[in-house]
Formats: sequence, C-alpha cells, structure tokens
Amino acid sequence: MIEKSNASVTVDLSSLDNNFRCLSEFVDKDTRIMAVVKSNAYGHGAIKVAEALEPKVGAFAVNAIQEGIELREAGITIPILVFEVPQKSMVRQYRVHNLTATFSATEHFDWVPDGTSYHLNFDTGMGRLGFRAEQAEKVAGLVKKRKELFCTGIYSHFATAHEPGSARVREQHRKFNTIRSHFPDQLATHIANTGGTAFYDTEQFNMVRLGIGLYGYAPGDIAIDGLQPVLRWDTFLTQVKEVKKGEAISYGADWQAPSDGYIGILPVGYEDGLKRNLGGKLRVLIGNEDYPVVGTVTMNYTMVFLEQSKFEVGTAVKLLHAGNNAYDWAQKLETIPYEILTSIDLRIPRTYI
Ligand SMILES: *Cc1c(COP(=O)(O)O)cnc(C)c1O
Repeated sequence: MIEKSNASVTVDLSSLDNNFRCLSEFVDKDTRIMAVVKSNAYGHGAIKVAEALEPKVGAFAVNAIQEGIELREAGITIPILVFEVPQKSMVRQYRVHNLTATFSATEHFDWVPDGTSYHLNFDTGMGRLGFRAEQAEKVAGLVKKRKELFCTGIYSHFATAHEPGSARVREQHRKFNTIRSHFPDQLATHIANTGGTAFYDTEQFNMVRLGIGLYGYAPGDIAIDGLQPVLRWDTFLTQVKEVKKGEAISYGADWQAPSDGYIGILPVGYEDGLKRNLGGKLRVLIGNEDYPVVGTVTMNYTMVFLEQSKFEVGTAVKLLHAGNNAYDWAQKLETIPYEILTSIDLRIPRTYI
C-alpha cells in the first residue's frame, strides 16, 4: 500500500487509555473486556491499538479473518474472535492462527476442520447474523456432538443500545438469557456493546464488547462523560490564491465569492474520506480561526474561503480535531462517527503519540 503525504492522522494512545479507564467504570467486577478492533480499529490502526490494549483486555474482536491473522502476525497472543461468517476458502486459517470463529448457522459445524474454536452467535433481535432463538436446542445438540470442535463462547448483539431506555434492549437481553440456559456454564458469554455497557444495567454476563467508546465517542446522541476522541486529522494549504467578488469555485460553479479575498486549496478530497456532502457545511481550523469549506468537495481537493487572510502555502489546517470531531462531522452528514472514522483513507499515515 502506498503512503500518502497530503494529510496526517494522529492517534493519541493516552486518550485511548483514558477511554479504557472511563468505560471500565461501567464494567462489572469479574466481567472481562473484549476490545473491538474491526475495520482497522475503526480507522485508528489495528496493530498499534491492539498492542496498547493487549495488557488490559481479555480478548479482541475483528470482523474479517484476515484482520485476525494480521494481529497474530504482529505478535498479539490473547484470544481473537472473528465476527464474520466462516468462508470455505479460509476455514483452515482459524486453527492455523489460533483465531476463534463465529458459528451463526448449522452448516458452519461442517465447514471448519477439527480443532477449531468457535463462539455461537444468536440473533435475538438485531436481524443480522446469528442462529434464531428457536434453534437453541438443536445447536446445543450439535455442540455436544461435535467434540472435535471447541465451543468457547456464546453471544448476541443489541440493535438499539446506542440510546438509553430502549425496551428492545431488555427484550433481547431476556431472550439471550433463555438461549444461554441451553448451553454449558463455563462459556464466555457476551451481548453488550459500548451502549449496552454504558447505558444499561442489564447483566453483562462475563464479557462485554467495546468498540466506539474506546475511540472516544458515544454510540448515539447521548454523551458518555469523560471520553476523549483518540484520532485527529490534519492537512495543509497546498495553494493560496486571490479570488474576486462574484467568481465561482469548483464543480457546478454553485458558490461565488461574496467579496474579494483568498481561496485556500486543501490537497484532500472525498477519496480521502472528506465526504463530498461536507461542501458548504464544514469549517476547518487554521491558526485560531475557523474558515468555511466552499463549493463542491472534489476527489482530491477541497477549497476554503480565507476571506482577507493571505496564509502561506504549507500552513497547517485542522480537519478533524477536538473542536470539530467525528460526532460534529456526523451531525452535518446525518450519519454516525463510526462512518466518519472508518472512511479516512488508510493510505494516510497514522502517527502514534
Ligand atoms: C461493532 C460491533 C461491536 C462494537 O460496537 P460499539 O458500538 O462500537 O461498541 C460489538 N459487537 C459486534 C458484533 C459488533 O459488530
């Protein structure tokens, strides 16, 4: 993979540590934390994040098996759960790399080779992966029968835990408890994500799966006190030039300068994760002042109206920062911080402090 030099992403591992401690306050004694580092640790860099968290957590979770292999090759030794459905071409790799598979359909018992460890995933209301509740007895029979495979856990996933007070969370929890009773006691058992952990007092069983909170964001619109965004994203002015009142900027020529002044050009566009729909909505920080992104965001460039400030080429520009974080961006785009963070081009190098 090439490394770009048009921007830089800084990942503050002391904020990650702060968030870990902050979330730990919500975790029951005797409940272990599984840190979710899927999608390259929500864009923060899976290896570095996993190395920082490994001494403190009980396990990691990834989505794709290749993400688990990457962590093993980097020297991570604690359990790693793979969420995705096993794919026939990859089934041998679970055992080879000591990764824990997820079984969410009966055929998965037949696909993986002997010696593979797995967790069972039950769908209690998410409507995504997982066995249906009615299959619990049948699945319990398969677990018992297939002694050459190692069932080490059972889990489910909440659909509505990002906001407090959801009756659906309690309903899913109740359903999961009933399913749980069909299986041996000693399994790792987990249902709570960040929201389930921070916003609900429902039993956490013996493990919680924390993702977004570790990276400094609440999962919905209700804040979790004490969290600090871990990632910031910076670029610079690659060109600064005069603009005259009434002149149009960018594709569509929809924005016209309201006065004479300067346009700053950022060497970052929607291919980097600076979403096209932010045109006209985002403000970026240069020095101590905010300036508006004007005109359409293009694939590789974004224009900023600098008004009367004739900044030097190379001047630093803060895109995503404490005063305008991924939650703020998400509000402008009617999305969630998860999508903002995982959209930042992986070819922009991450620096760890
Ligand atoms: C992504 C994910 C999580 C983490 O959710 P957060 O809201 O980021 O804490 C937990 N479990 C599963 C199955 C997931 O897909």
